[in-house]
Amino acid sequence: MEDCIFCKIIKGDIPSKTVFEDDVVKVFLDVNPNTEGHMLVVPKKHITDFTEMDDETLTHIHHVIKDMKELIYDKLGAIGLKIVNNYGCEQLVKHYHVHLIPVYKEGTFEYPYVSSDNLDEILDKLTK
Ligand code: 5GP
Ligand code: ZN
Repeated sequence: MEDCIFCKIIKGDIPSKTVFEDDVVKVFLDVNPNTEGHMLVVPKKHITDFTEMDDETLTHIHHVIKDMKELIYDKLGAIGLKIVNNYGCEQLVKHYHVHLIPVYKEGTFEYPYVSSDNLDEILDKLTK
């Protein structure tokens, strides 16, 4: 879709810190992370929300989420993960995506924001 920022990222017209990519999905670091390693799992096909998605894509996305969970635990030392999809409200980008937000400390999680200065460092940890 022409005016969609995630379609532009998927096409490579806008750069992103790519963690993983295959024919169906692209996973990249969120530019405004809630915690270190906050990433977005995005289907390559422009779909607004999960109600429009075929079962095969839904299943594939969840397999990728499982793999990313392993990566986040192994490489970043997270102890938990918020798996978030904003549906119906608070969805700013109208191209379906799942937020994977690593949790590093047990307790009340209040969706803080952290610095985006070290995205390259985080990407290295995840991919090297
Ligand atoms: P939503 O509110 O739609 O669930 O979240 C959209 C997310 O996309 C936000 O967390 C925002 O920081 C992220 N985002 C928006 N534009 C860009 C961009 O150009 N690059 C990256 N990497 N993330 C973006
Ligand atoms: Zn799109």
